[in-house]
Amino acid sequence: MSEQQQNQNQNQNKKKDKPVKASAEPEIMEKIVSLCKQRGFVFQSSEIYGGLKSCYDYGPLGAELKRNVKAEWWRTMVHGREDVVGLDASIIMHPDVWRASGHLAGFSDPMVDCKDCKNRGRADKWPQTAVGTEVEYKVIVDHQSGKKETRKAAVGPLGIVCPVCGSPNMSDIRKFNLMFRTSLGSIDPIETISARLDGKALSGEALKTAIADAIGETAVYLRPETAQAMFTNFLNVQTSMRMKPPFGIAQQGKSFRNEITVEHFTFRSCEFEQMEMEYFVPPPEYTSPGERTDMQWYEYWCNERLNWYSSLGIRKEKLRLRPHETDELAHYAKACSDVEYDYPWGWGELEGIAHRGDYDLKQHEKHSGKKLTFFDSQKNAHYHPYVIEPAAGADRTALAFLLDAYVEEPPPPGTNEGRTVLRFHPRLAPIKVAVFPLVKKDGMPEAARKIVEQFYKHQINAAYDEKDTVGRRYRRQDECGTPYCITVDGQTAQDGSVTIRERDSMKQDRIQIADAVEVVRKRLA
Ligand code: ATP
Repeated sequence: MSEQQQNQNQNQNKKKDKPVKASAEPEIMEKIVSLCKQRGFVFQSSEIYGGLKSCYDYGPLGAELKRNVKAEWWRTMVHGREDVVGLDASIIMHPDVWRASGHLAGFSDPMVDCKDCKNRGRADKWPQTAVGTEVEYKVIVDHQSGKKETRKAAVGPLGIVCPVCGSPNMSDIRKFNLMFRTSLGSIDPIETISARLDGKALSGEALKTAIADAIGETAVYLRPETAQAMFTNFLNVQTSMRMKPPFGIAQQGKSFRNEITVEHFTFRSCEFEQMEMEYFVPPPEYTSPGERTDMQWYEYWCNERLNWYSSLGIRKEKLRLRPHETDELAHYAKACSDVEYDYPWGWGELEGIAHRGDYDLKQHEKHSGKKLTFFDSQKNAHYHPYVIEPAAGADRTALAFLLDAYVEEPPPPGTNEGRTVLRFHPRLAPIKVAVFPLVKKDGMPEAARKIVEQFYKHQINAAYDEKDTVGRRYRRQDECGTPYCITVDGQTAQDGSVTIRERDSMKQDRIQIADAVEVVRKRLA
């Protein structure tokens, strides 16, 4: 999210289909959150201490899912191409990076409070209503009994109403910097402040300035995006890897934003992982005839990124590319589109693809004093490449894959037991194969153990389960999204064969034990 985009947030949301509701999550989200806990996908952070708002821990299956999402992204964006290389930069960067990028001055959300129910949130995400419209809303008049009174009022100049109680009575908007600040070095800023201010009778702005100056001396920030390291390392990567535009630098890693409103489970939290790539292309005057132009590269990446989600199983009708309108764009951006997913609460961003021009390299050149250009030997000229940036979030993507995979199947005719299935693409599934003995006798557990050991040996994530009936074991694996289950049964001892059951169709084939690893490996490819 750029500085300019932040400043223009208020206009932006008018263009999105539905305002985000702060009311209770749709029922499906409650089911997903509960399944995530039961099956070990996602837990509330520090749960035994009552949890910490907006902080989540990925459990054993969630850790696998997120790793698989990131691995697929890396495979597609880096390993599958000649023109993109990877980077793993530090989270804490020189504070001047954030001055140059504009995050220190402008990375702030418009914070607003509802004067009636005291709900706090982002003005740009609250329901938009025409100024002057008379709206009805409910106010609690007796907190003991919860008794509410209906009132009427006109929508004020901000043109928003509270998403919780519907009131148009808003505080003024305050800007709130989203970067987490900490300090680097062995001097505790509290010591500096107390030494400097000891005996001084400062108050108001003077006091604030003195404290800010003292903190500022050692202040560093947790990065709010991974992108800046690709710009600051542009020359290091370009020269060490002898890259020539068009080429990209890709990175995955944690980012931190002190979001005013954290919402929808892992969709918006304060600590999250990003998967970003900066693709440097020649500006129009340096593009050779027959090569893609900068705008064609932008369109190329919009399509590539949209298709990536559907290639891993997200239903096409749940995905769309939403081009930003002109007044949503940062002043330097030539174009921007969001890949959006139809979440249970409405369309929301999965990934942004921006054509950032040459803004970032020029900003860092200005602030660092180091030339950040590419020398085109054929044209004998130095130029600042343009940048196309596909910026995705690993947590949002994992959540979208979870939501899209979730299916409640009714009982088949003649039975009374339906099932809940996570229809993950096999490459995203946390557990690839589960191995069962049909019953716990006649040498079946021993034979099943031997099979699962083969999967471990070949580093294919597998599970062994012998508890409960085989039907219940299948259901358990369906809920985890395991694409294949192998069962040792009475016939195994006679001919060395086992059944392999496919999760979605529930179809079973017989295969030889000796072929089991190869069969599963082929199906995962
Ligand atoms: P939003 O408009 O939803 O706040 P953004 O435009 O600020 O998102 P970007 O700055 O473009 O997001 O970041 C790129 C990607 O990083 C987003 O598309 C999203 O997938 C992810 N992301 C950004 N902020 C968060 C967050 N607070 N929690 C989880 N993922 C996030």
